[in-house]
Amino acid sequence: MEVSKLLARVVDSARDWEATFGDYEPHPDTEIDEIRLGGVIDELLTRLGNSTPFFHPRYAGQMTRAPHPAAVVGYVAAMLLNPNNHDFAGGPATSQMEHEAVAELAAMFALPAHIGHLTSSGTIANLEALFVARQSHPGRGVAFSDDAHFTHERMCALLGMTAHRVPTDARGAMDLDAAAELVRTGAVGTIVLTAGTTGVGAIDPIVDALTLKQQYDVRLHVDAAYGGFFALLTHDDAETLEWDPTPWRAIGACDSVVVDPHKHGLQPYGCGAVLFADPAAARHYRHDSPYTRMFSGAPAHLGEISLECSRAGAAAAALWTTLQLIPLRREGLGRFLASTRRAALRFAHCVEESSELTLYQQPELDVVTYFPSTPRTISGVDAESGRMLAEGMAAAPAEAIYLSALQVDAAGFGGRGHRLDADTARGRILRSALMKPEQELCVDELVARIAALAPPAGRTVAGSGR
Ligand SMILES: *Cc1c(COP(=O)(O)O)cnc(C)c1O
Repeated sequence: MEVSKLLARVVDSARDWEATFGDYEPHPDTEIDEIRLGGVIDELLTRLGNSTPFFHPRYAGQMTRAPHPAAVVGYVAAMLLNPNNHDFAGGPATSQMEHEAVAELAAMFALPAHIGHLTSSGTIANLEALFVARQSHPGRGVAFSDDAHFTHERMCALLGMTAHRVPTDARGAMDLDAAAELVRTGAVGTIVLTAGTTGVGAIDPIVDALTLKQQYDVRLHVDAAYGGFFALLTHDDAETLEWDPTPWRAIGACDSVVVDPHKHGLQPYGCGAVLFADPAAARHYRHDSPYTRMFSGAPAHLGEISLECSRAGAAAAALWTTLQLIPLRREGLGRFLASTRRAALRFAHCVEESSELTLYQQPELDVVTYFPSTPRTISGVDAESGRMLAEGMAAAPAEAIYLSALQVDAAGFGGRGHRLDADTARGRILRSALMKPEQELCVDELVARIAALAPPAGRTVAGSGR
């Protein structure tokens, strides 16, 4: 895709559109010196050279990638006009695109009805879900697992809701019996279930939680910020991708769900989404504003169902453009998800075959966790992991490999059968989110490069205890 040509086209189109409104006199104070501008852009580009290459297959760290070119073009085309998706007056075209894109997200989760909107991030989307939970179950707290995203605790504090931490099992999924006990005390009004934890990609027991919802007056919120798009994989994928579709099929029966198009949805940052199964959730957002015109007809304008006021119409345009090209179906974006899953399975296999690396646990989605095999103590694993992380990034650009670290505790190692001397309570291991289909094409090489950073098997290193 020739992005520069498409960008030139959307810039020209914006100028043509502006011209239809007629000429006006530019103010002399707003004039800029072209030479100075050129110099500033030079410096900007030089500074931006110091960025992390999220686009490259050798970036195998955090849950991030480059946006799809279609998203970039869609974003710029709209951004030049600066639509505001607070209301239909501010963003008539892009508000409609947002409604359509959100409806496609709701269809992906098979929500029978929905109300929802895009947000600036998964964190804000989860905040909105917890806000609605508080309004609908006043005075009751929120339960989430020890491995839930760290922002749930922060948002509970912000909302004045009591946070209840629930232990996880040996694969990092919520212990639902412990959650059920909390629900039975009446203290918990909402359970946050994570579909793909940020650390290891674990999937909380969503299907079983539905039984709790039937028995007790408890809300179920699914944090699928990272894992949500795996809903595009089907039952047919279960065997080849060693993957269980049932939790994703259960999301449609929960009360709310969050998904981040800026993670697996190919979008640039600034695009989360929250969806509520009950359109009546809109009542909790009711407010009166002297600045913005309120419409009473359906559909509600987006400012009526959002905690944020101004929001980038460009984010909606970017998502809408992408979904026209790569729809939310198995043969659309689902192909991207399937390839990342295959890459993770192959990566895990290669790690198991290597003598320098040990697999922390089997990957659930496309996040792989592993650590150097030689150290015998947690502090040794931590030190070597930290060194590998730094050395990988310090290499020349054409050689560098980018990983991320995950803090795990002694029980985490022990529960997964790793016998290490627990000389410290916790330590870092390595973590790779394989979010780019291109990584499927070079997994073996990636693992070989990482293994080459590890201390050779059999060699004594700090903390080897030998
Ligand atoms: C990334 C993530 C979040 C936070 O989303 P942001 O878009 O980074 O704010 C929340 N929950 C889970 C499970 C995530 O992976």
